[in-house]
Amino acid sequence: MKNIAVITSGGDAPGMNAALRAVVRKAVYNNYDVYAFERGYQGILEKEFQKMNSRSVSDILQRGGTILKSARCLEFKKIEARREAKKTLDTLEIDTLVVIGGDGSFKGALQLEKLGVKTICIPGTIDNDLGYTDYTIGFDTAITTVIEAVSKLRDTSSSHNRVFVVEVMGRNCGDIALYAGLSSGAENIIVPEVKYDINEIIQSVKRGMLSGKSHNIILVAEDVLDVFELSRKIEKETDISSRVAVIGHLQRGGSPTAFDRILATRMGSYAIDLIKDNKSGLAVGIKGNDIIGIDIDKALNKKDIIDKNMYELFKILAK
Ligand code: ADP
Repeated sequence: MKNIAVITSGGDAPGMNAALRAVVRKAVYNNYDVYAFERGYQGILEKEFQKMNSRSVSDILQRGGTILKSARCLEFKKIEARREAKKTLDTLEIDTLVVIGGDGSFKGALQLEKLGVKTICIPGTIDNDLGYTDYTIGFDTAITTVIEAVSKLRDTSSSHNRVFVVEVMGRNCGDIALYAGLSSGAENIIVPEVKYDINEIIQSVKRGMLSGKSHNIILVAEDVLDVFELSRKIEKETDISSRVAVIGHLQRGGSPTAFDRILATRMGSYAIDLIKDNKSGLAVGIKGNDIIGIDIDKALNKKDIIDKNMYELFKILAK
C-alpha cells in the first residue's frame, strides 16, 4: 500500500487527462491511495488537493486541457518553496509524486528529488521538444489541428493563387512545422534548427507558381521570424498576393487523437509500474514502440535534434 500524488504542470497539452486517468486507475488497481493537486506545483504550495478514485477520472479520456488545471509557479524555483512542498507531501505520506508536464516541470521534479522527494515525470507538451523521447503527449493532436487549418487555408489559397504564411507553435523545436508540413504538403517550412534564406524562399514561391502550383503554404515556427514582414516581402518581390494566418492557441486545445490517448495511457500506466518497482527520479518516454524510463537529468540533457532525413525528404517532396 502506497500513497501517490499527481499534478499536471506548465503548458497544457491534449492527452494530459488521458495520462491522469491511467495513473489514477492503475494506482487504484494496485491498491494505492492517489492524491491529485490542482494547478501544478502551485497547488502543492497551497495544499489544494483531492483524493482520487476511479470515478474521479470518469469521462475525461477524450477531453482536451487538464481537469486538474495547470499553472506556471515561479515561486517553485526557490528552495524555500520546494521545502514547503516536501513538508506537505510528507504530511500526506506520499511515496512518489507523478509530474505530467514539459521540461520546466521536469526541472522542478529534479529539484524535488534532490530534497528527497521521489518523482516520476510524464512528458505532456505539444512541442515535442524533449530529445529523450520520440513523442510527447499532445504533439500528435497539435499537428492534426495544424493539418486541418492548412487544408482549409489551401482551399482559399488555391482559389486566389495566393501565398499563405502560417505561424505554428514550437519556438525551440521545429517538429510541429516539420511533421505538419510533411503531412499537409506545405511548400516551405522555417524551423529554429535550420538556417533559412528569405531570398531562396521567395524564389521558390516564384518557381512554384510558374510551374503551375495554384497555392503556396509556408509554415513558420513562432519567434523564428516576423511572419507579417515575410508576407509583405513576398508580395513586394513577387507580385503574388500573400496572407498571414497565426494558428496560435488552437494548437493547445481539442480532443486528443487516438495516438495521443494511447501514448498517454501507456505512459501513465508505466509510471505506476515504475513506482511499484520502487524506482524514482525517472522520466517516462517512448523509443520506437517501447515505453522507457530514463533518469530525469539525462532526459533534460538529451538535446532535441530535428530529424534531418525527414527535413530533407520534406524539401524533395515540396518541389
Ligand atoms: P513546462 O513544464 O510546460 O515546460 P514551465 O517551463 O512553465 O512549463 O515549467 C512549469 C513549472 O515548473 C514552473 O512554473 C515552475 O513551477 C517549475 N519549474 C520550472 N523550472 C524550474 C526550476 N529550474 N526549478 C524548479 N522549478 C521549476
